[in-house]
Amino acid sequence: MRKLAPLGLAAVTALAIGCQEHVASLQQTNFFDRAAMDSATAPADDFFSYANGGWLKKTTIPDEYSSWGSFTTLYDENLKKLRTLLDEVAAKQQEKGSLEQKAGEFYASGMDTVAIEKVGAAPLQAHLAQITAVKNYNELLDLLAAGFRDGNADLVQFYVGADDKNSAMNIPVFPQQGITLPEKGYYTRPDSASKAIRDGLVKTAAKYFTMTGTPQDAATKMAEQLLALETKIAAAHRTPVELRDPVANYNKMAATDLAKLAPNVDWKKILPAMGMSADSVNVGQPGYLKGLSDLLASEPIEAWKAKVAFDYIHDHAELLSKEFQVTHFEFSRQMSGQKQMPERWKQVVEQSDSRLQDILGQLYVAKHFPPEAKLRMDTLVDNLQVAFKARIEKLDWMSPVTKEKAVAKLNTFLKKIGYPSKWKNYDDVTIDRSNWFANNQSLGRHAVKEMLDKIGKPVDRTEWGMTPSTVNAYYNPTFNEIVFPAGILQFPFFHMNADDAINYGGIGMVIGHEMTHGFDDQGAQYDAQGNMVNWWQADDAKKFKDRGAAMIGQYNGFKMFDSLHVNGELTLGENLADLGGLAIAWDAFKMTKQGKSNEKIDGFTPDQRFFLGFAQIWRVVIRPESAKTRLNVDPHSPAQYRVNGPLTNFDPFYATFHVTENNKMFRKSEERIRIW
Ligand SMILES: [Zn+2]
Repeated sequence: MRKLAPLGLAAVTALAIGCQEHVASLQQTNFFDRAAMDSATAPADDFFSYANGGWLKKTTIPDEYSSWGSFTTLYDENLKKLRTLLDEVAAKQQEKGSLEQKAGEFYASGMDTVAIEKVGAAPLQAHLAQITAVKNYNELLDLLAAGFRDGNADLVQFYVGADDKNSAMNIPVFPQQGITLPEKGYYTRPDSASKAIRDGLVKTAAKYFTMTGTPQDAATKMAEQLLALETKIAAAHRTPVELRDPVANYNKMAATDLAKLAPNVDWKKILPAMGMSADSVNVGQPGYLKGLSDLLASEPIEAWKAKVAFDYIHDHAELLSKEFQVTHFEFSRQMSGQKQMPERWKQVVEQSDSRLQDILGQLYVAKHFPPEAKLRMDTLVDNLQVAFKARIEKLDWMSPVTKEKAVAKLNTFLKKIGYPSKWKNYDDVTIDRSNWFANNQSLGRHAVKEMLDKIGKPVDRTEWGMTPSTVNAYYNPTFNEIVFPAGILQFPFFHMNADDAINYGGIGMVIGHEMTHGFDDQGAQYDAQGNMVNWWQADDAKKFKDRGAAMIGQYNGFKMFDSLHVNGELTLGENLADLGGLAIAWDAFKMTKQGKSNEKIDGFTPDQRFFLGFAQIWRVVIRPESAKTRLNVDPHSPAQYRVNGPLTNFDPFYATFHVTENNKMFRKSEERIRIW
């Protein structure tokens, strides 16, 4: 099930845990980790290493994780908090139908590994038998359409979200689908690592097929057909860079016109079966549906059946017995580098957070989000907004007409902090302690129903796209909103008692980052009401684009693993947000009492502490497999460049750490990028 794509901070993709250091045990009186620094590195040569080098050297990634840093440490802490909550509610007899009963029994059913082992592959067999019985692609699509309402989304699927050009109304959106590897490049790149990943897909699929009763020879053949078919589907896909263009990926049409685009799909039959009743739809990537339609007719039905059976097994493998979980893990670790599967309770807590959403969210915030924290955050966000407004008004490259519109957009930001103002209803969800698989299906059906109910209705702007415990934040262009879940409002990002330098370098920068997303290369194409309309004077738009192009060039120059480099186009929006966020947070900090003083704490001036706090929130060590995957698909730059990249463009950093032309981080003044 898709949600609005969060333009979040740092994707904490692969789980993994294995705590080694308790964040809260850092020197809280000083609020930054002085022992983590590497004073042998000159701050003006490599600030990321100066601020984090000691920690980087001594930190090993827990086996269950693909990376370890500020985000994952908090993530790990949150899993423990959620586990405690779930253990508590599971241990008591709860009133039937209450939140506590649903949360507790869901968790308990996931922890009942004896029952899960006992049923083995049985929960899959009925649907797999239906796939086996299919004779042609029309029957296959009928089967998929029926499964959609059960939460089994496959080749043809949609989600419901705000219409980019009529943001007050919901519309069904059909995104490209049908590949298992992270993006189309994995199917064709000739290097040995990519080839090994493709082989891994075939091996995984063959294993699943034998585990569900297919003889070995037939299973191998099906797995090879699967890869061949996905390779053809991938050819019809857009690249991650192409997906960043909001105009190209908005293709509103009458629902009846889907038949012109993809004539081999019997839309008249499958749309009602999926519960889709809208007159208009948005086809994100028309090339995908057209390609799918052509391939349905040209590729053998056996290949399609292999594909759909694989998807069904793979999507549910983590809910099944150990053998399935391990097979799923062995596949994904090729791209994450994780050394071992997370402990059972961690997997179940993760699944609980992702499935139980507001049920668990309510229990979490009641215990872990004090009202004072929200008040402090309200003030911080307001201060950042004031600082951003002043920056816009001072820009030397933008005309007054565009400035006025930019400020109007900034002033319209919807600000969400902590948790939703209203909780969703889960009365239709049935949970019982004895059936993990069925519990997940019940919540899956609920999520689809909730989504289908939005069709044809106005957008509900109180909705959230992340659970309250999430260690992340996002900007959503169609809502024109910035959202900070309770999970990120913790140290080292934020602490009630930290000095302003640390809080502005941490959560202040995060707030500024999300605000700048409203004005990055994508966000700038949406107006104050969240509609995709051009509000820019032509000359200003050109200057903005030129500055973005310079930034693409800078980041393309950042190397990884000797032979690879950051993709400046893929990461442009995030890099703009990182630079803007830093600048806005700095200005807001300079408006505080501490920002105007020179009083040292722990040997550092307030200005130095601001930059140290900033650099430490991004510290991370990452496995090479995961770092390589991220270069291909993650719109965020690697951590060291999220710190050093913006700083090389930021004049106050030069002044604070005396950066000269003899230092590695030096750029000539005219080469420094200044945008927001
Ligand atoms: Zn971002």
